[in-house]
Amino acid sequence: MRTYCADSIVLRRIDLGEKDRIITIYAREQGKLSAVAKGARRPGSKLAGASEPLTYARLFLSTGRDIDVLTQAEIRESFTGIKQNISTVAYGIYLLELLSSFVDERQPNPELFDTLLSSLYVLESGADPEITARYFELQLLIDLGYEPHFDRCLRCDKPIGREKVAFSPALGGIVCPECGVPPADAIWVPGAATTYARALRNIEPQKIKDLKFPPAALRDLGLMLKWHIRYRLEYDLRSTDFIDMVAKFDDNGDLAQMR
Ligand SMILES: [Zn+2]
Repeated sequence: MRTYCADSIVLRRIDLGEKDRIITIYAREQGKLSAVAKGARRPGSKLAGASEPLTYARLFLSTGRDIDVLTQAEIRESFTGIKQNISTVAYGIYLLELLSSFVDERQPNPELFDTLLSSLYVLESGADPEITARYFELQLLIDLGYEPHFDRCLRCDKPIGREKVAFSPALGGIVCPECGVPPADAIWVPGAATTYARALRNIEPQKIKDLKFPPAALRDLGLMLKWHIRYRLEYDLRSTDFIDMVAKFDDNGDLAQMR
């Protein structure tokens, strides 16, 4: 049995029997993997906090025959700011689910780990969660080689202006109105929305807090990225329903009654 340490973000947990948990983590140097946290559900267990999703911790694990075993943990960040608000929790869970859906087991990608971690810190800092989610989606797609192209028309190479353009996930970018019938999967969006994609592509994470996007542009950008991600994954993520549900409760002012 070999022991190792893994700087990790906990993506998911499943209760196992009366006392234990299975956790899925994204480790900076080891990639996505599962481990059993024995006794994590016992009152006062030192592993309880460290095996909660949306936790950044240094985990000590030993390799098992079927599954690795979590033996010790030092919590680095519990993201209590995110966890105080059901809306930011919904977005935080979405970031975790999005990453988990795109990465394979035990394929390390330290850069993507750092992007997830810094995006969680951005959410924790009180930045607009929708802008933060768009930032993370874009950075993840860039990192994995699936970057949608927002700068120029994919057919005639003309720079995108403010006029309505067609975004096609199958093409991976924009077709301008002069270029004839767009692909069947395209959606029409104002060209202005692509400006905001360009802004998010190059920004330093700590500056996201200062960003303000017009609601319509943010919605259009969200739609393009959602379409693009759906095309890549071939399914919708469950946590997007959770975000929509929380937003509805927020709008109706019913959230306080739910608590
Ligand atoms: Zn064109």
